[in-house]
Amino acid sequence: MYLVDYHVHTKRCRHAGGRDREYIECAIGKGLRELGFADHVPRFYEPDKPGKVSERGMAWCDLDEYIGAVAGYRKEYRGEIVIKLGLELDFVPGWERETERIVRDYPWDYVIGSVHFFPEWNYGYIAREQEHGPEEIYPLYFRRVAEAGESGFFNILGHVDLPKRSFPRLAPETMAALHRELAVRLGKAGAVIELNTYGMRGSKLGDVGLYPDRELLVLCRREGVRVTLGSDAHRPRDVAADFDRATALLTECGFDEIMTFEKRQVRPVAWRE
Ligand SMILES: [Zn+2]
Ligand SMILES: [Zn+2]
Repeated sequence: MYLVDYHVHTKRCRHAGGRDREYIECAIGKGLRELGFADHVPRFYEPDKPGKVSERGMAWCDLDEYIGAVAGYRKEYRGEIVIKLGLELDFVPGWERETERIVRDYPWDYVIGSVHFFPEWNYGYIAREQEHGPEEIYPLYFRRVAEAGESGFFNILGHVDLPKRSFPRLAPETMAALHRELAVRLGKAGAVIELNTYGMRGSKLGDVGLYPDRELLVLCRREGVRVTLGSDAHRPRDVAADFDRATALLTECGFDEIMTFEKRQVRPVAWRE
């Protein structure tokens, strides 16, 4: 099988542990063909009023070291595993110029666009939101993910239904309508989303399933949205965690290909081969 894990963090983002090489060794041990580091972007946005920015990321001074280190691993592990340089970049409306600069000015193989917070809700991590309930969170979250897809900045969209990490899903018919609208917009935008296994680990609500829900994934498939794979590992042993469930879901939903990236160019791969 040709499997990739395009979403792993390192300790540079200050909320993950383990050494870079342990992630790589773990990926090799699990038979992955590619491992992509996707650490959190240094915070380039600031609230216009004093707020509680909870999102953590690399410091600017870590960025060059990160890029250099990953380039080094790419050479060092050549022949054993393909190492890719990625970035997880927040989609924050109002900061498009900075976003574009970060995407353009560094040699990323791919950039994952993620929504973790809403600037209009004071930049608090969405999974810890207390002032707004799921009825408000889900529609706004999906709308923001659609905008991220349409922005053209990103190669991959991260955990597209993240609010379920902390909030119960809305009534099935409400959820279905939101899913449909999102899938249509992402399809028109030519988006690639990740099938992300983090929802099965570390959530207060227990195993909330893969991101996205199967229902949404089926709709994405119908609308021509493409997929790739990520564990969102924050420690080495979680590299490729639960990929058996992810590949089963790919099969059930009819995805014969996953997308790989090099220098921000997409290349589909028949993952079963
Ligand atoms: Zn994320
Ligand atoms: Zn992440």
